[in-house]
Amino acid sequence: MKKLRDSIPQGLRFDVFRRDRFTCQYCGRSSPSVVLHCDHVKPRSKQGETSMENLITACTDCNYGKRAKEDVQPPTASPDNGMVGLFGYTYDGDGLIEYQFKIKRVHGDICLVQLFAWTDGRTMELKSFTVDYLLSDKCKLFEDKEAWFEENQKNDREIDRRERLLAIEENREPVLSHAIN
Ligand SMILES: [Zn+2]
Repeated sequence: MKKLRDSIPQGLRFDVFRRDRFTCQYCGRSSPSVVLHCDHVKPRSKQGETSMENLITACTDCNYGKRAKEDVQPPTASPDNGMVGLFGYTYDGDGLIEYQFKIKRVHGDICLVQLFAWTDGRTMELKSFTVDYLLSDKCKLFEDKEAWFEENQKNDREIDRRERLLAIEENREPVLSHAIN
């Protein structure tokens, strides 16, 4: 039998993965720990359409029939799959960290994040970003807290900047009295 999934256009496949946050909608595992497929909820053999409404992200195990799919609906109201709990950074135009955060909630296209001061890591205010922005190349997201932390330690310019600002905060002098380069 010919591979049916070959006929799902690349762009549509990506849109489905993106909508589903690169997470298998049957078991909740996500890429890169599993290989993802674009699966027809209503099979094509039963006239299921190749459309966003009838396509769903599935890992290999789930895609190849380890469970009955008939009673699973395509996701419409669970857009936070895979993003809540991730750690991340946003970067400014110079490639320096602008914000460091943990994603607390996702509502529609908006992520609510907890900010942490990048000088000493203390908890700051909550802030919202669009999902698209956090998935863009202006940001980096991490599942693993250690990897997130290490990323922050890799850049000498970050370390310099952090030390300078910590010194300023400890002296309780106004930031404007110091030239930051
Ligand atoms: Zn799965």
